[in-house]
Amino acid sequence: MNKGFREILVISGKGGTGKTTLASSFALLPPEKVVVDADVDAPDLHIILKPQVLEAQRFMGGRVAGIDPDKCDGCGLCRELCRYDAITPHYRVDPLACDGCALCYFACPREAITLKEKEAGMWFLSRSRGGPMTHARLYPGEENSGKLVTVIRNRAKELAQEEGLELILIDGPPGIGCPVISAMTGVDQVLVVTEPTPSGHHDLERVVELAWGFQARVQVCINQWDINPQRTEEIERWCGDRGVEVIGRIPFSPEVPRLQAQSKAPVEEEGPGAETIIEIWKNLLEVE
Ligand code: SF4
Ligand code: SF4
Repeated sequence: MNKGFREILVISGKGGTGKTTLASSFALLPPEKVVVDADVDAPDLHIILKPQVLEAQRFMGGRVAGIDPDKCDGCGLCRELCRYDAITPHYRVDPLACDGCALCYFACPREAITLKEKEAGMWFLSRSRGGPMTHARLYPGEENSGKLVTVIRNRAKELAQEEGLELILIDGPPGIGCPVISAMTGVDQVLVVTEPTPSGHHDLERVVELAWGFQARVQVCINQWDINPQRTEEIERWCGDRGVEVIGRIPFSPEVPRLQAQSKAPVEEEGPGAETIIEIWKNLLEVE
């Protein structure tokens, strides 16, 4: 941990496994930490952590073409070439349709086309119930979510250094795509949250294999393990055979939806669910 802080990423192969419920609980437990909501396409950690924004920044991602009407002679080449039908019959660019591929820019014989960076989202530095927090929102249809994840992770690292905090907790995006890779790069630990279903098991395998490539320590916890104890055992066997540590089983709790409706994390009410989550958090922190 020579960088001065430890980064723990909570992730799942897909949405709906209880990952954010767990991450929000961890955020509310000691020690003090910086929290990152890296699900920039569909952030929801704020519902429970209630951040108060201190700093808001525009995120510039991707490019958009523009046509200078004084230079354009209406030859039509750009319209013919554009695979996204982003150029109107009057040679204007529809910014929502333009992919920024630059084909028209290079093809235009009159050098009438420019490419500009466009605003693709916003990111925030906040104070939340879980401590300092960085989070973001990518605008609908925009790409570059991986770059945005990197931006908020970098800001979180600066914050950890500025405030002398030794822990960064990252609530990761779903899937195994570009934003997940950005969330995983350089972290110290990855906790994969899964559920005992065929798709849960399949997604777990994909995300664990991805995490191995990053040399992070990978651990697993099984949410709602008792809805299918046999599948839970299969998952544990799969993990055991590959040296992946299963650090906890969380039982199904009918209370979770009620708590979510009240914008509360499970650890905010006493009960077996809260105790299990506290135990998992302790197990996570015990790793050297
Ligand atoms: S290729 Fe250039 S000159 Fe031709 S229509 Fe497009 S912008 Fe105008
Ligand atoms: S940059 Fe690509 S997508 Fe955008 S208008 Fe030009 S050709 Fe079409």
